[in-house]
Amino acid sequence: MPYAPFSIKFMSVLQQAIDTIKLLPTGGPGVCTILITNACNANCDFCNYAREKTFVTEHKWIDADKLCEAIDILYDRSVRYLTFVGGEPTLHPRLKDIIAYATKKGMRSTVVTNGSKLTPTLLKELKNSGLKNLSISIDSPSAEKHEKNRGLPKVWERIKAANEECKRLSIKTAASVTINKLIGDFRELLAAVKELGFESVTFAYPKTSSGATTSLSFSETSLLIDYTPDELIAALETVKSLKGEFGILNPGESLTELVRFLKQEKQMYPCYGGYKYFYLDYNFDVYRCDRWPTKMSSIFDFRDQPFIRDNCTQCMSQCYRDSSVLLHTSVSVGDAIGHLREGKILSAVQDIAKPSNFSSLKTLIEDWGTLKKLAKIEK
Ligand code: SF4
Ligand code: SF4
Repeated sequence: MPYAPFSIKFMSVLQQAIDTIKLLPTGGPGVCTILITNACNANCDFCNYAREKTFVTEHKWIDADKLCEAIDILYDRSVRYLTFVGGEPTLHPRLKDIIAYATKKGMRSTVVTNGSKLTPTLLKELKNSGLKNLSISIDSPSAEKHEKNRGLPKVWERIKAANEECKRLSIKTAASVTINKLIGDFRELLAAVKELGFESVTFAYPKTSSGATTSLSFSETSLLIDYTPDELIAALETVKSLKGEFGILNPGESLTELVRFLKQEKQMYPCYGGYKYFYLDYNFDVYRCDRWPTKMSSIFDFRDQPFIRDNCTQCMSQCYRDSSVLLHTSVSVGDAIGHLREGKILSAVQDIAKPSNFSSLKTLIEDWGTLKKLAKIEK
């Protein structure tokens, strides 16, 4: 049966293409970040999940069976990409079952981890569950500074070994770097990340305040993320200037947009938090994002919940803002289809002819090589 693997791969690509076309009227596939636990074994200065801080008073673990029901609802509402976060998500004993369920439905999962638990056994289990992407946190070009901030001795070597294992298993890894003062020289950081075996990196923009949700991934007091707007602008511009030298996944247009944000200039790309991007916590409440104080609904009422689309640009949360730039054109196509169905041809033309669509497409084309590498799975 020499042609069977090709046929299976072809059918899966075809199914995915049909699914994406079906989702176009609603703006394309959506994304949901899922907080599966608040427990963490690390002690990062710039995060309030840190094990020695007092913000987590009781460990919470999402109920895996109920989460599978929630995943069904997210799927029905166009979500196709899931990002599992914590705390430390690999501490959840049923992570692999949850991912396996999502994979079976045709959804793609990413896990954001500090890397400390990535043993060959766990990686094999995650691979078998269908995991294709891992995002592993790195804070500094110096192993010593990284491990000190994380409070995780020897994690640097563990990450290096995990990257080797992931290559063998065809799991794509990306370094996830919060812009912080331990970076020092960004070029040195990229060299270190490469040496660790990563082919790409995403920079997260520092979070210094709470959105009053269950998310504790911020710190109001950490000096490591205490930047003036000008310092942060310089950091974003440095990241942008290095995009040609390494696989930096932040879209160039998004970096430019956030420089405009810091300069308090007009924003070009509305955030789709509440429309194409959601945050689900271990209480099964859905928020438009991890910064919004009021929930949209319980996930179990989410099927009938209206989406929110109010062109919010209140913050510079990386995952929401970067994704919104990448989704911008497909959302415009969805709008145009909606207007055509109502017979509003001029509005449909205006949806497509927006200058922001061309800039969003341009950044997609510029970043295509890196994005393709991240998405490409050999088997
Ligand atoms: S940044 Fe991640 S690893 Fe560090 S304390 Fe927070 S949740 Fe844990
Ligand atoms: S801009 Fe920020 S606050 Fe507004 S929806 Fe997006 S992530 Fe949420």
